[in-house]
Parts: sequence; structure tokens; C-alpha cells
Amino acid sequence: MRLPIRKYGDPILRAKGKRVEKVDERIRSLAADMLETMHDANGVGLAAQQVGHALQLTVVDISQVEDRPSTLTLDGEETDPAGAMPMVLLNPKLSLADETVSGSEGCLSFPDLTAEIDRAVSVTLEAETLEGKTVRLEAAGLLSRVLQHEADHLNGILFIDRMSSVAKASHASRLKRLQKETVQQM
Ligand code: ZN
Repeated sequence: MRLPIRKYGDPILRAKGKRVEKVDERIRSLAADMLETMHDANGVGLAAQQVGHALQLTVVDISQVEDRPSTLTLDGEETDPAGAMPMVLLNPKLSLADETVSGSEGCLSFPDLTAEIDRAVSVTLEAETLEGKTVRLEAAGLLSRVLQHEADHLNGILFIDRMSSVAKASHASRLKRLQKETVQQM
């Protein structure tokens, strides 16, 4: 089932997600709905907050993006990133490389807004899966960026928080308008 995507101005986007302690039918069905919602919106990632749940749960799929490569090492083995998609990640813990790189980013909660954001060039991530396994992965390229963006969502952090002050100032009136529209529709 496709779910409505919460937009900037909705306070749930600022909520820190609770740990998912147990994978039950409710979590499985939410994850399936989040995948459908993300794919339908042509997104590469979606966090539970964006569909109204303050939980440590995110879905990612970069397999349809051809012009921004990724690398992935999954449980110690180099893996074709596209083949490992989509990913459903619970309670992710992220370690960031020191080196950063700037890249274009958007967010399904901010329609038609993109900005250059500095992110770590690569990440190491540990998370649980719907099957109750623990996965460890290292990612670089687009996948690294998406994982950082989604992990931020799970902690109530939005990509506008990481924009340069110049970019934020240039988008200020638009952000204000979006926030106002969201609040009016609630
Ligand atoms: Zn986002």
C-alpha cells in the first residue's frame, strides 16, 4: 500500500526514531509499504519518519540510478550494489570516513528542492534486517550518501540542516512556503 509522504513542516520529521526491538507483522507490513511508496515516488531512500512513524527503520534502493556509481562490501565481500537492492535496514549504526565530498541531494519530503551537501566519502554501517540478521557493510559513492541521508532522518535531522548557510539563505523563502503549506494541510 502506498503511504502519504510527510512533508517539511510536519513535526514527525524532527522526531528521533525508537529502536525496533521486535520484527512483527506490523513492522514487516510497514517496510513493504515503505518500499512501494519509495519506488512509486522514484526515490532512492525513505525513512519511517517520512511516512509518520518515529522508528529506526529505513529502506534504500539505488539500483535504478545509472549515472552515480556506488561500491558496496557486504559482510566482508565485494558485492554488486544494484544486486543487493532494495535494502530494509533496522536500527542502523553508522561510522563515517573523515574525508568528505560534495554532491547533489534531494528529499521526498522537500518536493523539487535539491542542494549540494557535504557528506563523508564512505561509511561503515551495521544494521539488523527483517530476517533478524545483523548486516555489516561498507559503502561509497551514491549509496554512502543515501545511507547518511536516511540515518539522519532516523535521528530527526534533515538535509537542509547540512546545507551551507548560503544555500539555506537562497532556499529560505521556499522552505518557509513549504512549511506553511504543510501545516495548513494538517
Ligand atoms: Zn530525505
